[in-house]
Amino acid sequence: MPEITPSYVHAVESKLRSFVHNGEKVGLVMSFVYEQGECELCGQEKTSWHYVIENLTTHRHLIIGSNCFKNFQKFLCDWKFEPDRILVSKFFEPFVKWFPMQAPKAMEIDDSYYTEIQTNPLRILESRNAEELSGFRYIMKKHSHGREFVVQEIGYGRKTRSPISPSEDVF
Ligand SMILES: [Zn+2]
Repeated sequence: MPEITPSYVHAVESKLRSFVHNGEKVGLVMSFVYEQGECELCGQEKTSWHYVIENLTTHRHLIIGSNCFKNFQKFLCDWKFEPDRILVSKFFEPFVKWFPMQAPKAMEIDDSYYTEIQTNPLRILESRNAEELSGFRYIMKKHSHGREFVVQEIGYGRKTRSPISPSEDVF
């Protein structure tokens, strides 16, 4: 893992301060593998693993790479923000399994933030070249017959192959 250099801190700090404020929860809504990507927080290019995190209060999202995912909590902890960890559903475990070893405080397994998400992961996927997209997982709200549901889906390329769990009625 690269060191946290002054130039890295400088790049990340102002963007992160405008993305999250003390007391606001942040949850993971999608992870995807995309060659030639870029981290929206530090500007690092050729990021492969991407994590779409949503501020569950403002509903803004940010697409970050693995390093910034691991460092997110360190910044918020320094600023005495609470909570400081990214909420992560068990559903994302295959995409985040190395984080607890590399950065034990980076995330908190939580399955209760589903009802608060508003990000539409499909729009994020659509704006990318399908050939460079190798895999993704997301949770998303869907509307059907006047009701809201949360679905968890996985896919390859740009195709969603299989909802891995039945839609969960949350209301
Ligand atoms: Zn980054």
